[in-house]
Amino acid sequence: MSRRTWRTLAVTLSTLVVAALSVGYVAYRLIPSRTTQLAGELVHRVDTDDRVVALTFDDGPTDADAAAVLDALAERGVLATFYLNGREIVANPDAMQRIIAEGHEIGNHTWSHRSMTFVTLDTVAEEVESTDTAIRAAGYKGPVTFRPPFGNKLLTLPLYLARHDRLTVTWDVSSEDFSGAEQSSADIVDGIIATTRPGSIILLHPWFGRTASLEAIGEVIDRLAAEGYRFVTVSELLEGRRPGPS
Ligand SMILES: [Zn+2]
Repeated sequence: MSRRTWRTLAVTLSTLVVAALSVGYVAYRLIPSRTTQLAGELVHRVDTDDRVVALTFDDGPTDADAAAVLDALAERGVLATFYLNGREIVANPDAMQRIIAEGHEIGNHTWSHRSMTFVTLDTVAEEVESTDTAIRAAGYKGPVTFRPPFGNKLLTLPLYLARHDRLTVTWDVSSEDFSGAEQSSADIVDGIIATTRPGSIILLHPWFGRTASLEAIGEVIDRLAAEGYRFVTVSELLEGRRPGPS
C-alpha cells in the first residue's frame, strides 16, 4: 500500500475508534441517569413551592416485611407509592392485599428486576405487561407509573414506554448505600432530611430484611412532618404540576 493509502486507513480507523468511544460514553452516562432518557416522559421531582413530597418504596413486596413497612405508614396516616416486581406480587399475596386495602399507590418495577439496558423490545414488553397483569389481577384500580430496576434504561425500554404512553418515575432523594458499607438507620434518615425539598420524590428499599431502611421510614416521616411537609402519592404529586428542573 502507498503511504497515502496508509494515511487514509489510519485516519478512518481513528475516526471509528473516537466514534465508538463517544457512543459508549453517551450510553454510559444515559443508562443510570435519573433525569434523562431517550424517549418518553421521565419525572424525578416536581417544581413546586408547596411543602409536599412523595415517599416511594422499591422492590418486593414480601409478606415477611409487610407488617413493619405498612404499620409505620398506617400509624402516621401516610400514603406511599410502591414500585413492585410482578414475581414478588404473586409470591406474596398477603402483602399485596394489605398495600391495596390501605389505599397506597402501586407502580410497575418489572417482573424479574433485571436491568433493562441491553434487552429486546419483546423482553421489555413481557417484563412490563406481565407485571401490569399481576397488579390488576390483585384488584388494584389506581394509576400505575413505571420505574426501571436500578434506574437503568437505554434504547428499547424508553422506546416501549413512549410508544405505550407510560410515564417513567425516578427520584431525587436517595441516601441508601449499596456498596456494602455499614450504614445505620440514622445515616439514611439524615441523608434524606438533608436533601429533601418541596416536590421531592424520596426512595427507600425496605424489603428483604433491610432493617436500616425499614427503620428509617417512621423517622423520615416524623422529621419531615415536623418541618411542615405533607406526604402524597406520586400521582397526586404530579397532578397539576410540571416536572421540575433539577
Ligand atoms: Zn429495584
